[in-house]
Amino acid sequence: MTSRVDSDRRFVSLPLLRGQRALVTGANSGIGKATAIGLGRAGADVVVNYVVGREEADEVVKEIEGFGVRAFAHEADVSDEGQVVGMFARMFEEFGTIDVLVANAGLQRDAALTEMTVEQWHKVLDVNLTGQFLCAREAAKEFLRRGIVPEVSRAVGKIICMSSVHQIIPWSGHVNYAASKGGVLMLMQTLAQELGPHGIRVNAVAPGAIRTPINRSAWDTPEAEADLLKLIPYRRVGDPEDIADAVTVLASDLMDYVVGTTLFVDGGMTLFPGFATGG
Ligand code: NAD
Repeated sequence: MTSRVDSDRRFVSLPLLRGQRALVTGANSGIGKATAIGLGRAGADVVVNYVVGREEADEVVKEIEGFGVRAFAHEADVSDEGQVVGMFARMFEEFGTIDVLVANAGLQRDAALTEMTVEQWHKVLDVNLTGQFLCAREAAKEFLRRGIVPEVSRAVGKIICMSSVHQIIPWSGHVNYAASKGGVLMLMQTLAQELGPHGIRVNAVAPGAIRTPINRSAWDTPEAEADLLKLIPYRRVGDPEDIADAVTVLASDLMDYVVGTTLFVDGGMTLFPGFATGG
């Protein structure tokens, strides 16, 4: 199976998001970086949020500006209410408003249940779940204040929550992470129900195994990759661009009737591959 990044199929080079303004959290690495670049390529102005790693964030900004759109990097910890409010305030000052939020920032602090500290538990819940709540709240306030701008999008606003296959697949040794992503599912569905009547579309993208720093040990040796591939019916590890493309299309008016859905982008990981031979 060839890698997505080796292929020259670049569907989202269409300006699907021309004139829209997007904010991507955790956008200086992995999936967030590819997504910020993908949204820029599709015509959006992009805020590149990061918490550490200014240089990487600046490189993402430079790449996005190469598409002829605006971008800036903004340091903020998504689990800190004041920093999130400040980040949106700066975005409104520089870009005027927001059309697309991609609540992507996330981390793991893995341990067996009996070894897990309350700090590890809180850190993961704070960033992965509370961070998405805070960003979604600030984006929704602006969507409701501004209302529809028909020449920009059919929707008043779009929120995309970065979830995981672990919103439905239990994961031993990662109870904090799995609980946070299970929470993201209900966060997303409840916000979709609450905000839908106002013309705001809330959805989630749930990646499977994607080659990024968060899960390096799962793919960085041939043995580890072979083990991982057993869990993926499509038999390739995903690339960040696979997720970026899904987010770009989901944020666009091509998906205007898609509300409250989780788009699994996982090579079939959620198909219970252990049952492929009859169980
Ligand atoms: P990554 O480690 O490459 O990127 C995570 C990003 O989040 C980094 O930019 C990091 O700095 C940022 N971040 C961490 N804490 C933050 C905070 N407090 N405030 C702001 N930013 C913060 O990992 P990734 O794989 O690109 O992960 C991105 C998202 O995708 C996460 O939500 C992760 O749970 C999800 N995901 C990843 C995979 C995968 O296989 N890589 C699978 C399913 C879901």
